[in-house]
Amino acid sequence: KGLPPSLTAIPPGCPFHPRCPKAQDVCRTDRPPLYDVAPGRASACHFWEETISERGDRR
Ligand code: SF4
Repeated sequence: KGLPPSLTAIPPGCPFHPRCPKAQDVCRTDRPPLYDVAPGRASACHFWEETISERGDRR
């Protein structure tokens, strides 16, 4: 929900944290690296493993 951040005022940490329902403290301070999650797939979320587990697959 919400709007993308201004390109001239990108939030610290993960740029999605102000509007992400899963944001935690680390999201407000540390920008997530790009994690290799499967062949040809990557994620820039600190909690990608939990999200995949909740979905029950590796789409
Ligand atoms: S790192 Fe993941 S959980 Fe944290 S704010 Fe960004 S998208 Fe949401």
